[in-house]
Amino acid sequence: MSAFTLRRAFRALPVLAAILAASSAVPALAQQHAHTHGRMSLDVAVDAQTLTLAIESPLDGFLGFERAPRTDAERKRVSDMVARLNAAQQLFVPDPAAECTLSSVTMSSAVLGLGEPKKEEDHPQGHGHDDTKRADGKKGHADDDHADIDVDIVFNCAKASQARFIDVKLFDAFKRIRAIDAQVATPQGQFKRNLRPDAARLNLVR
Ligand SMILES: [Zn+2]
Repeated sequence: MSAFTLRRAFRALPVLAAILAASSAVPALAQQHAHTHGRMSLDVAVDAQTLTLAIESPLDGFLGFERAPRTDAERKRVSDMVARLNAAQQLFVPDPAAECTLSSVTMSSAVLGLGEPKKEEDHPQGHGHDDTKRADGKKGHADDDHADIDVDIVFNCAKASQARFIDVKLFDAFKRIRAIDAQVATPQGQFKRNLRPDAARLNLVR
């Protein structure tokens, strides 16, 4: 009798797994951007009181290398990068009408030992690294030769809904980054924008 219930419980498992996979598809979106040097992804969410920016980028765009620093010069590059990203209000300048002030900057990059290694747990679902590694060693390169950095930036804003744009100065600070694939979510809807050094204003109004 109990074996019967157990079997039924196991039969239900694939269904549960399918539901979990479907529900995790949305948060996984941000991780599915391809690792392309010179490009980064930027997800922007506009809420009543906050502007939230989530960067995912190859480390190359910020550092020129994608591993732990080996020399004093490389260590300085890392600390300069961290300092610049912590001063996010100079890299992303929201519409003054929204009256925003920088609230927090959180960085995560496993090879640099920055932040929580939480993303690693998500990788098998997001990228299928484990599977590709098993099938073909060459395809596992994203883990071996390349590395990303995630940066989460939060602005507190008195009038976030008044924000019509964010001026992105990142291209000036990090010359290796040539394109930003931006995804904007506002109470009015979601849309995508592509930014380049000569078109670096992110419009938040459709
Ligand atoms: Zn790379």
